[in-house]
Amino acid sequence: MLYEINEKALKLESEGKRIIRLNLGDPDLDTPPAIVEAAYDAMKAGKTKYSSSYGEKPLREKIAELHGVKPDNVVVTPGSKWGVFATMYLMLRNGGNVIIPTPYWTAYGLIAKSLGAETRLLKTELENDWKVDPAELEALIDKDTKMIILNNPNNPTSKVMDDKTLDGIVEVAEKRGVTILSDEVYGAIAFTKTKSILEYDGGFKHILTNGFSKTFSMTGWRIGYIVADKLLVDKITRLNQITINNVPIFIQDAALKGIELRAQIATAIKQEYEERAEVASKMLTAAGFSFSKPDAPFYVFPKKAGLNSEKFTLDLLDKGVAIAPGSSFGDYLEHFRISLTAPKEQIEEALNIICEAPK
Ligand code: PMP
Repeated sequence: MLYEINEKALKLESEGKRIIRLNLGDPDLDTPPAIVEAAYDAMKAGKTKYSSSYGEKPLREKIAELHGVKPDNVVVTPGSKWGVFATMYLMLRNGGNVIIPTPYWTAYGLIAKSLGAETRLLKTELENDWKVDPAELEALIDKDTKMIILNNPNNPTSKVMDDKTLDGIVEVAEKRGVTILSDEVYGAIAFTKTKSILEYDGGFKHILTNGFSKTFSMTGWRIGYIVADKLLVDKITRLNQITINNVPIFIQDAALKGIELRAQIATAIKQEYEERAEVASKMLTAAGFSFSKPDAPFYVFPKKAGLNSEKFTLDLLDKGVAIAPGSSFGDYLEHFRISLTAPKEQIEEALNIICEAPK
């Protein structure tokens, strides 16, 4: 449905209709100029050849420093989505099951399906503050469980997991010998402190996937990374070797510049999205929607009892607003996801239409 909405929005736009697009997690903000300049400088310096499938040394070192690990534990990937895919491919291609709390970024489920692995969904609810119950999680684990996927902060709820819940999940996973893949692509720009999976073990029982798309408004550049045990890093590097070979060096140089300016860039992005989230929260509350206030960019995931969000979303497209139905993230037909990836005035305009539309 997410893709259907996007296609319909594009079609309406091509027919000349104005659509406020709040349906994707693609930031409207431009990539910071210093990052663009770094790519250009690298291209001019001739950094346009094949290179290491692990990633460039200076970037791996910088990522390692950021996460307090060794460069050997870092591999650069073409976007974090590829990192998620590569990890799932290596761990699930021979079958087994993967446990994923919902609502979830459906790419995880689609990847599992493409590998013939079973997906075991663990439903969480707004009414319970989107908390995962470690006991319920444990009940889903069996001898074929290869992996638990966490997305912290979460897309679509923008909820940051509280430390106690995360501690409980890690305890269960370690007791049962299951690896956690933690997708922390929104972590660096969360409004509240987000505990990373890397804070748990020096032995790399778990895996971090991360990227530059969200923190640095670099979605189209396609660069991300994995922090993991050296054995897995080597295996992913071998996958890089037989597929993409390497992320272009000039893009790695740009990403390196991003990390150098990280504090400044992340602060500006956080501030902008916190203001947007505040505007959206006020309007949604006044209109009687239930939701948890975002702890991070870019989403709000409101609920109205009895709502059919698929119909609601399609009707809104005809009114010039694109959002995503809750059913695109699991069993959440009464919810919808608004991406705050447009300027504040457009968000206000769209929210007026959303709040006034028949439910
Ligand atoms: N993980 C989550 C939870 C996402 O929402 C997205 C993008 N929508 C990604 C990963 C992919 O990000 P990247 O551009 O780094 O592949």
